[in-house]
Formats: sequence, C-alpha cells, structure tokens
Amino acid sequence: MDCLFCKIVAGQIPSTKVYEDDQVLAFRDIAPQAPTHILVIPKAHMASVAEVSPENSGVVAHIFEVIAQIAKAEGLENGYRVVSNCGDDAGQTVHHLHFHILGGKRLALEMA
Ligand code: AMP
Ligand code: ZN
Repeated sequence: MDCLFCKIVAGQIPSTKVYEDDQVLAFRDIAPQAPTHILVIPKAHMASVAEVSPENSGVVAHIFEVIAQIAKAEGLENGYRVVSNCGDDAGQTVHHLHFHILGGKRLALEMA
C-alpha cells in the first residue's frame, strides 16, 4: 500500500521511535512544531478519525493510554496538546490516522 506511515510501520522508511507495541507506534515528527512533537499511530491502517468505528475504536483508546505514558516520559508535566487533523479542511497531509503530541513550550491558542 502506498502509505507513508504504513511504510514506517513496516520499517521501509526510517523513523525515530519513542514507543512501540503490537498495536501502536510512536515516533518523532520530521518537522517539529514544538520542542516535543511526537506522532502516535495505530499499526493497522485507517485513514483518519472519520474511520473510527465500534470495530476498531479499541486501538484508539489504547493510543490515549500510550499518549499519557509518553507525555510523562517526555517530561511534559506542564501540559501538552493532542491533535488529529481529519480531512482537507483540517489540512491532513498523511492519510493514516495519527495523533500529534505537542509540548515543551506555551502553545498558541488559535485553532482555526
Ligand atoms: P498532518 O498534517 O496532520 O497529516 O500531519 C502529518 C505529519 O507527518 C506532519 O507533521 C509531518 O511533519 C509529519 N511527517 C511527514 N513525513 C514524516 C516522516 N517521514 N517521519 C516523521 N514525520 C513525518
Ligand atoms: Zn497506512
């Protein structure tokens, strides 16, 4: 499949991994927007939040457990933001579900 993040899961494209288990991979964003900028993805391909369903939402719950664990490990005790861009209006550029963890500085508040 021609999906960048599936290729990262398969090890065909290198990444700086920060966490991995059988369902989930987390790695550093190649173009960080904050001192800590990590992407957390399900290993199984789904395009975006729009494809979350009763059949696959378990991995999304697991991703949020992993996010809390990574934030602690990264020392983000002062707070952080979790973002998932879904579709064109949100500017999604990689169509494999991913959650950005952004932290390590006071983040701007504008969301639009
Ligand atoms: P989005 O715009 O929400 O779809 O986010 C895609 C993110 O993937 C962007 O923040 C990119 O910087 C990041 N990205 C693209 N290619 C890579 C890569 N090879 N390794 C790590 N992050 C990447
Ligand atoms: Zn994929």
